[in-house]
Amino acid sequence: MRAVVMRNAKLVVEDVPSPIPEQGEVLVKTLACGICGSDLHTLDFAHKIAEAAQGADASEGTNVPDSMDMSGDVIMGHEFCAEVLAHGPGTTGQIKVGTRVCSVPILPRQSGVTAIGYSSEVPGGYSEQMVLSEPMLLEVPNGLSSEMAALTEPMAVGCHAVEMARLKGDELPLVIGCGPVGLAVIAALKLKGIGPIVASDYSSARRQLAETMGADIIVDPSKSSPYEKWSELATHGVDGETLPPDFLTGMPGLRTGVYFECVGVPGIINQMMAGSKQGGRIVVVGVCMEEDTFTPMNGITGELNIQFALGYTPEEFTATLFKIAEGEILAEPMITGTVDIDGVPKAFKDLADPEQHAKIIVKP
Ligand SMILES: [Zn+2]
Repeated sequence: MRAVVMRNAKLVVEDVPSPIPEQGEVLVKTLACGICGSDLHTLDFAHKIAEAAQGADASEGTNVPDSMDMSGDVIMGHEFCAEVLAHGPGTTGQIKVGTRVCSVPILPRQSGVTAIGYSSEVPGGYSEQMVLSEPMLLEVPNGLSSEMAALTEPMAVGCHAVEMARLKGDELPLVIGCGPVGLAVIAALKLKGIGPIVASDYSSARRQLAETMGADIIVDPSKSSPYEKWSELATHGVDGETLPPDFLTGMPGLRTGVYFECVGVPGIINQMMAGSKQGGRIVVVGVCMEEDTFTPMNGITGELNIQFALGYTPEEFTATLFKIAEGEILAEPMITGTVDIDGVPKAFKDLADPEQHAKIIVKP
């Protein structure tokens, strides 16, 4: 089968053997697979990750999950929709051949849990075929296109980040960065009715997408500060009433801020800590794989909370698929292009330009 193989931190398209389903697994045909920003980061940092994974130990702070095996060739792709081709040993066959399915990109095997798309053991979605765990299959609800179903994974990341923010309902959100992660967070905030949603991105195309996805006030940070804009809005409560001044300082009272870091480059967390107001919560969703520094005083003065978020729960994943199918989560504007297997290496380059693309879907 054709596949995009990551080897020595490069992408090569070639023929590779089809995977063979093990106990409890099904063979599927990949119908659509989104290219994720994490995959772009992974390609950049492939060497570093391989080194870190070898000595993987949570106490070392490498942040590379044990399930991530980058030691050999890796076929990435974890945002997929696929069609069942055949049932492996020990399966029930309950989901029939020809059924379109999604799955959390995890393969529990006797040898351990494998992260589909970050494994040298099984191929991810940048290939014509994959193996998936039968109990984890979710049938694509009637009529939802495979491309939209493939957006379940990235949209679930936004839903999970918003859950991790432990919202009470009266917070004022600020989303820094409107790439796919930021857009998914905006969609999830919209779904929860938390707003107005303030969003910020240097790219005009992404600001436009943020508006389409439901952001209410969109800031170009090269022209004005998103934190100042947030502060102006925060003096009013959910019902529009002016909040009473702060008891201690006499300064204008502000709504609680929830600030989503959706950029993932060094320096952003410290910048957000400096811009966040008293009692704010910063949710870090952007994946930065480099070392970063911050000034604790920036967090101490505002008694800030920093929450890191990763992935989603299986329940959130399932709910997201159904919410996309029911039109409750707007996902379609995210898709800015489609390519076949041979187009993947170029698509990785194209995705570097935020004016051109948000999410490219691979259709093998
Ligand atoms: Zn992803």
